[in-house]
Amino acid sequence: MTKIILSPKISKRIEQGHPWVYDNEVADIQGDLQQGEIVEVFNHKKKFVGKGYANPRSHILVRLLVNHPKEEINRNLFKKRIEQALKYRQQLGYQGSFRLVFGEADFLPALVIDKFNDYFSIQTLAFGIDQFKNEIVDVLEEIFKKESLSFGIYERNDVPVRELEGLEQKTGFLSKPFEPQTIINENGFKMLVDIANGQKTGYFLDQTANRAALAPFVKNAEVLDCFSHTGSFAIHAAGYGAKKVSAVDISEFASKTAQENAKLNGLESKIECITANAFDLLSDWSKENRQFDVVILDPPAFTKSRGNVENALRGYKEINLRGMKLLKKGGFLVTCSCSHFIKPDIFKNVIYEAALDAGKIVREVLYKPQGNDHPFLWNVEETLYLKFYILQII
Ligand code: SAH
Repeated sequence: MTKIILSPKISKRIEQGHPWVYDNEVADIQGDLQQGEIVEVFNHKKKFVGKGYANPRSHILVRLLVNHPKEEINRNLFKKRIEQALKYRQQLGYQGSFRLVFGEADFLPALVIDKFNDYFSIQTLAFGIDQFKNEIVDVLEEIFKKESLSFGIYERNDVPVRELEGLEQKTGFLSKPFEPQTIINENGFKMLVDIANGQKTGYFLDQTANRAALAPFVKNAEVLDCFSHTGSFAIHAAGYGAKKVSAVDISEFASKTAQENAKLNGLESKIECITANAFDLLSDWSKENRQFDVVILDPPAFTKSRGNVENALRGYKEINLRGMKLLKKGGFLVTCSCSHFIKPDIFKNVIYEAALDAGKIVREVLYKPQGNDHPFLWNVEETLYLKFYILQII
C-alpha cells in the first residue's frame, strides 16, 4: 500500500479530522501511486493518520475514510456508514424523502445519496468513491429493497467536477430501469420530482425546513419567487395563504414542472410561472415600480471556485439590491446563497452593502443553514454551504 507522508504544517488540520489531503500538502509519496488506490497517510513524525482513496490527477490527492490502521475500506464499511447516516435521519424524524448521505459530513467523502420515496438519486464525485459504486448499490438494495416493487437507483453523475477527477459525466439507471419520477410529500405539499431531469439530484431537499419557515410571512401577500426551479418556495407561499405568487426561472423545464406542481396542489389560480432571466425581470419590474410583500431569491451557486468569488458577489449584490427595491416598506426579503465559497459573514456583508445602496434598513428575522439531513462538520468548513435569511426591509 502506498504511503503518503504529510508536510509538518498541515498535519494538525488532518489529524483533527479534515478528510482532504491536497497535493501541495505532501512531503513524500512512498510507492507507485495509482488512481483510486487506497493509501495510508502518516504525519511528518511517521504517526499513522488514516486511510483513504487517492487520485494523483486531482488537486485533492487523498480523501480519508478511516483513522484506524485495522479498519478496512470495503463493502462493510460503506454499509456501516450508510446505516449510521440513515439512523441519524430517522432519529430526527425524517421519513420518505431526504438526503440520506451528505458526503464528508457522513464520513463518506464525495458520495451524495438523495432518497425520494423508494427511489435513490446518487452522485459519486471522486475517482475513489466511483470505484465503490457497485458496493454502494448493493448496500442500498440490502437495506431498502424489501418487497417494494418500485425500488430504484439512478445516477446523476452529470457534474463537471467529475472531470477534474478524470471521470466522465454520466447519468442512468444503477438498478432495474424505472420511471424516474415520483411525487414526494414536503411539509404536506405534493412536489413532483423528476430524478433524471431536475437540477442536481433532481430536487433541492436542503431547503425543506426553510420553505416551511415562510408560513408566518406570506398570508395575503403578493410574492415574487426568483430562481424558483420546480416552484417549491412558490407552492409553499401559496399554500400558506399568499394572495398571488410569481415564480420565475430561466429554465423552461423548471417553469413547466412548477406549473404542474401548482396544479397538483390545487394552487394554479394563485401561481403564475414565468420563464425568464431573473436579472432582467428584476430590472424591468423595478423600472415599472412593481411592488411585492415578499421577494424570494434562491439563485444557483454563482461561483464554484474560489477564483470567481468577486464576480459572484457582484451577482448577489445586484439581485439583492433589486429585490429590496421591489419590496413594499416593511416587506420581507428571503435571500439565500448555496456556494460554500461564499462564507456566511461575506454573504451577510454583501446584503448589507445592497441595503446601504438602496437606502434601506435591514431587520434580521431568521437565519438558517441547510436542513439537518445535510449536516455540517465544524472541522470541515466546506460542508456548510447554504445560507438562508428572512429579512424585513424597512
Ligand atoms: N428555489 C429552488 C432552487 C433554485 S436552484 C428550489 O427551492 O427548488 C437555481 C435555479 O435558478 C435553477 O432552477 C436555474 O434554472 C435557475 N436559474 C439560473 N440562472 C437563472 C437566471 N439568470 N434567471 C432565472 N433563473 C435562473
